[in-house]
Amino acid sequence: MKKEPEKFELPTFPAKIDVKNLIAKGKVGDRLKVEIDEKLNLRLDEENVLKEISGNVQLTLLEQEILAQFDINYLAKTVCARCLKEYSRQGEAIFDREYLIGRRLPEDDKLLVDKNFQIEIGEPILEEVMLDVPMKPLCSEKCEGMTGNDK
Ligand SMILES: [Zn+2]
Repeated sequence: MKKEPEKFELPTFPAKIDVKNLIAKGKVGDRLKVEIDEKLNLRLDEENVLKEISGNVQLTLLEQEILAQFDINYLAKTVCARCLKEYSRQGEAIFDREYLIGRRLPEDDKLLVDKNFQIEIGEPILEEVMLDVPMKPLCSEKCEGMTGNDK
């Protein structure tokens, strides 16, 4: 078996939405809003642990695809880059994805509605959350780091 460095292994958060009814009974322009509220304990990297994902995804049926508009809030436990204390950080990710209907291969950056009429939303959410995680998070704008005693 091929051994990949563990460091680069993406955490997984499998989450699927059934879109069978939307496709079978819907007409172009029909919408479906799905609430998301997940408690997690997912290590993203050395400093960040994803604890909670909430928000919603609005699905719109188009001619050949489903447009998914995500409005996601998340809570992550992270480490302040200045004082090195752990704290909880809230962030948001607002983004779109398109899922092609009735295809077997994706094109460009589009995804697919799978053969069971489901769409996978965990991976795009994680991708966008990870993009939103700052390189140098601060517990507060006023954080004075570890120099608290020498004033
Ligand atoms: Zn701090």
